[in-house]
Amino acid sequence: MIYTFRNFRNVEYFAFGRGTFDRLDEILAPRRKGRDSYVVFLVDDVFQDKPLRERIPLKGNDQLIWVSVEEEPTTGMVDYYRDEIQAFADSLPDAVIGIGGGSVMDYAKAVSLMLTNPGSSATYQGLDLIKNPGVFKVCIPTLSGTGAEVSMTTVLSGPEKKLGIKCDYTMPDQVVLDPELTEGVPRDQRFYTGMDCTIHAVECLTGTWRNAYSDAFAEKSLALCREVFLENGDSSPEADEKLMIASYLGGMSVTYSQVGVCHALSYGLSFVLHTRHGLANCIAFNRLEDVYPEGVRDFHAMLEKQGIELPEGLSEGLSDVQLDLMVDTAFKLEHMWDHAFGKGWREEVSPEWIRELFLRM
Ligand code: NAD
Ligand code: ZN
Repeated sequence: MIYTFRNFRNVEYFAFGRGTFDRLDEILAPRRKGRDSYVVFLVDDVFQDKPLRERIPLKGNDQLIWVSVEEEPTTGMVDYYRDEIQAFADSLPDAVIGIGGGSVMDYAKAVSLMLTNPGSSATYQGLDLIKNPGVFKVCIPTLSGTGAEVSMTTVLSGPEKKLGIKCDYTMPDQVVLDPELTEGVPRDQRFYTGMDCTIHAVECLTGTWRNAYSDAFAEKSLALCREVFLENGDSSPEADEKLMIASYLGGMSVTYSQVGVCHALSYGLSFVLHTRHGLANCIAFNRLEDVYPEGVRDFHAMLEKQGIELPEGLSEGLSDVQLDLMVDTAFKLEHMWDHAFGKGWREEVSPEWIRELFLRM
């Protein structure tokens, strides 16, 4: 292990179990400061006409914002929701609660920070640029895999780059893990986001930053993903629980290690083609058999077992400008290359090689 001193914060409170969502009112009660105060719920609009809507414990002054995740989070939309909250009330909310997949959880994390830090969220993309702690933030996943519920970053596409706002303050203060909430996820989406988790584990375990702490989480996370996706893969109470915990463990493993080649390429795809994170990872990972032989072998078995067909020919019709931007986006993610290949990564990784990989997708 390459020793680097780092001192991490963790989630302060977490609750796990089927039906836990119905205790949300109780969980929020100690955060509510008074009769006139309020909390903000950011909820994936897929639930607008689902029974979950009626189960959100709204009180008198609370604000409910339906979030569209047709596009994954952008700095522009983070600023927009922040402005909407500031227009709604003169005071800060007591909590910001994100209910949804990685996208909504990342919105909740970012909006919480932008309520207490001036300016546009685009100016904070990077490491430790946030000055003030955010509002108390609660993440409630309805889709398992990203690990956003336990990560110290919120991934945003900005005008110039796709990059997280990463710092201690980004970590959620409270997590509510209720596997029942993931029941209605479409099968292919469940697979793609589940593969995000599988790939987090493979990348954490294969690189120079790995260590016993990260390995322990990644190994168990990967074992759970294999149980779910090399078996029948359908949603069931047992499988949903396993996948939710795999996601959580995957997030924990990334904290003390790092993602690698697949994520670097996937960020390039998403930034230029707006491909969703889970799918972009699958498309990239599919071509990385030389870098992650075992992981990709498993992945191919999972694809087959689950009957998932990935889109092909993605690079056809790409302009040179688009391809250059993709390569540039990926190449700039130095920490990922550093983890994958070590300090001397520039000797192994060239923009030409990255370009070739994209052309095979
Ligand atoms: P997502 O949140 O973008 O949602 C994907 C789709 O699933 C959406 O259409 C959504 O409406 C739908 N969905 C969610 N829950 C559902 C449910 N219970 N029933 C039916 N449909 C449901 O997908 P994701 O893969 O969870 O998140 C991807 C995002 O997470 C990306 O923006 C990525 O950058 C981010 N991410 C963040 C981190 C982090 O550490 N912060 C890590 C990995 C990925
Ligand atoms: Zn990921």
